[in-house]
Amino acid sequence: MTFKNTQEYAQQLDQTDPLNKYRNEFLFPKVNGKEVIYFTGNSLGLQPKKAKEYVDEVMTDWAELAVEGHFKAKKAWWDYHERFAEKLAPVVGAKPSEVTVMNTLTVNLHLMMVSFYRPTEKRYKIIMEEKAFPSDQYMIASQVRFHRLDPKETIVEVKKRQGENHFRTEDILQTIKEVGEECALVLMGGVNYYNGQVLEMETITKAGKDVGAFVGWDLAHAAGNVELKLHDWNVDFAAWCSYKYMNSGPGNASGCFVHEQYQGKKDIPRFEGWWGHNKERRFLMEPEFQPEPNANAWQISNAPILALAPYLASLELFEKVGMPALIEKRDKIVVYLEFILQEVARKVAGDFEIITPKERGTQLSVFLHGQGKDLFNYLMENGVITDWREPNVIRLAPAPFYCSFEDMWRFGEVLKGYFVKENLESRD
Ligand SMILES: *Cc1c(COP(=O)(O)O)cnc(C)c1O
Repeated sequence: MTFKNTQEYAQQLDQTDPLNKYRNEFLFPKVNGKEVIYFTGNSLGLQPKKAKEYVDEVMTDWAELAVEGHFKAKKAWWDYHERFAEKLAPVVGAKPSEVTVMNTLTVNLHLMMVSFYRPTEKRYKIIMEEKAFPSDQYMIASQVRFHRLDPKETIVEVKKRQGENHFRTEDILQTIKEVGEECALVLMGGVNYYNGQVLEMETITKAGKDVGAFVGWDLAHAAGNVELKLHDWNVDFAAWCSYKYMNSGPGNASGCFVHEQYQGKKDIPRFEGWWGHNKERRFLMEPEFQPEPNANAWQISNAPILALAPYLASLELFEKVGMPALIEKRDKIVVYLEFILQEVARKVAGDFEIITPKERGTQLSVFLHGQGKDLFNYLMENGVITDWREPNVIRLAPAPFYCSFEDMWRFGEVLKGYFVKENLESRD
């Protein structure tokens, strides 16, 4: 496809984009009275317009029904969380019985490790990627210490090669093979938060299972972004936050996947609470725990209904549009963004190095050689919301739900503007 770096051409792409109308389902912040170009859907997705209505509905039920809302609200609270599984399952390639919504991401990963990290004298090591998201590093190290083991001897990190910006599958597979029978768990980020790389989850899962380890995935940057087939890949467990590509609102509840094969198992260790108890008998207040026959067995407390309400609004949009359509637009808009970056680099003799490999989702991480944080600040002041990672990487994630091709063109113009200004200033 040959693209053009013109407003007219970008507008044409928008006109033929079947998802373009969904832009209007979201609320955009404004800078200087103009809707921003929002590249941080990988950090906090925009608010769906319907979210407020769903929250108000709960507020009204609470006002008018109070405790009776548990059973008599239009969307009753006692099983509110069960409305998510059907809609969320296709997003991650799971059966509805394998998916639940609860807590927050790091908390869920801890809970999953209670079930799936059971070190023995011989099999105790954990394989993860180097420089994983800090919360994952803290979480895993603290789990290791909880079992009275030494993180240094227990955690094996797969590293990028010298001078390379991405992980190589062969290196991950080699590490799994080397650790072999000592490997208790492989737990990695399915999409790397820094470079945007999509790991070969199917292949890695298989390799981990082949050496007898459990395999889990942190899907914070994957859910709602890339194709997932957790059930078919035979993944043991996974968890993801909902406020990034899933647009559920700040700090909102996490999704959690537990493979069907662990359902109804009596011997699986788990931290338990009344919301995981057989729902028909939950209010009989019996002393012995009877797990729900699905992923809900991992639920602990009654659900935060007010928080879940906007997530439900967002999920209904995912249900309407579906991942295949999102992925189709994603691939096109990311390629267009790449083209715009190259065009601008050519015009202003800038040096932008895209460090995201070809195995990618919505995010492009761009190394801005020779540029400081000034550029980032300039973009923000001119209505381009990106995020900055030291030393000088900006992450651009044009979420296909609400970003337009014209946004990409506009971004290019702002970027060009910065370099023109810089040149003028340095000539002064
Ligand atoms: C965003 C993100 C988190 C955040 O964890 P919370 O528990 O939701 O605060 C964790 N891990 C990864 C990989 C992330 O990208």
